[in-house]
Amino acid sequence: MTEAKQPKRKVIKTAAAMGKYMADYYYELDNAAKTGERKIAWCTSVGPAEILRTMGFVVYFPETHAAMLGSTRMSTDLIPHATALGYSPEVCSYMTADIGAYLQKQTPLTKTFKGIEGIPKPDVLVYNTNQCRDVQDWFGFYAREFNAPILGISGNVTVNASTDAIVTGVALQMQDLIAPLEEISGNAFDMDKLKEVVGLSRQCSDTWKQVLEAASATPSPLTFFDGCTLMGPAVVGRGTPEAVKLYKQLLAELEERVAQKDGAIENERFRLYWDGMPVWGRLSAHSKLFASLDTNVLASTYCSSWIFSALDAEDPFNSMAKAYTDLFIVRSEDYKEAYIKEKLEMYQVDGIIYHDAKTCPNNSNCRYGMSNRIQEKTGIPSLVIDGDLNDLRCVSDEQTKTNVEAFIEQLEESK
Ligand code: SF4
Repeated sequence: MTEAKQPKRKVIKTAAAMGKYMADYYYELDNAAKTGERKIAWCTSVGPAEILRTMGFVVYFPETHAAMLGSTRMSTDLIPHATALGYSPEVCSYMTADIGAYLQKQTPLTKTFKGIEGIPKPDVLVYNTNQCRDVQDWFGFYAREFNAPILGISGNVTVNASTDAIVTGVALQMQDLIAPLEEISGNAFDMDKLKEVVGLSRQCSDTWKQVLEAASATPSPLTFFDGCTLMGPAVVGRGTPEAVKLYKQLLAELEERVAQKDGAIENERFRLYWDGMPVWGRLSAHSKLFASLDTNVLASTYCSSWIFSALDAEDPFNSMAKAYTDLFIVRSEDYKEAYIKEKLEMYQVDGIIYHDAKTCPNNSNCRYGMSNRIQEKTGIPSLVIDGDLNDLRCVSDEQTKTNVEAFIEQLEESK
């Protein structure tokens, strides 16, 4: 992708500390895998991480690994190896890239972190289908490969409101995890420890929310593309004091920048909202493309996925059940429409980009008329970009560039 100009984009200082946190996290996992001193649990990104941490597991998130396969642009060549095993090229390309990488004995971890030789072998795999069914199939593959136990929660989808019946059902499923996890970990469940972990997770969530909301300032100190990399500790480190500390540091940096009116891009003329996932292999290219058009894509549905405002340390099981059912991805079309409309107002945006990700219908919200309905009701125009999170064969750089440029021209004319 060629850019007309190379705009200045602000470097976020706390990103270096975030990078170190992620390195420490992977070294801790690697150490557990090599020494066997601690048991390893694999968990889906919005799975019951708090329970696993309470039980003493070191927690590995395959989705974060899959995003690395995307951002390092390794995924497109690896997906066909999963396809050869019968996994359709149309199912989640996080899953197919990750399975392809495993089959080819490749991982970006070895290149990024010296001394790490591979992904950590699971002692148990724990999923929640709140986000999609693919995670169950993904973890099922590895359960067979490693002959490891697999546990799961069947989450609800297309939920309008998280009723008591839904919350009770999910909370009971979470409680059912305890006995097998005690057996696998060799540790007794400790309710006080769970309360502490849930409390830390809530603090992490609240601070991450404040970080994302800092983007409502004009000019915004943050871009969606920054958010995609800065959210790493919120995914892998929720429930730890270190993650809370990092987000407080990041928030302080952003608040200072807001006070100084120091925007994330040099000349913010247009403000956009992004629905859906990033194209990981084009994160930098897209960031530059929008900045070159004096446009800040400053908020998204995706980065907000790790806000769990219902978590309550005093009522851990019910509040976890509610928090992990109140996710945007779980909700009904009506709820999503109302949610996006509220965010458009809050962030004062000029337009919306919908990323229609070929292999993730769950995170693509433009397939049932939402973009038209929102445009009719708010007058805010939108653009649908066809693409994918990890499979770059589904991405046309030229078409994206042409469509984005035309969209910004349209915004310019109506200004
Ligand atoms: S939500 Fe989408 S990207 Fe995430 S695991 Fe499911 S299908 Fe894959």
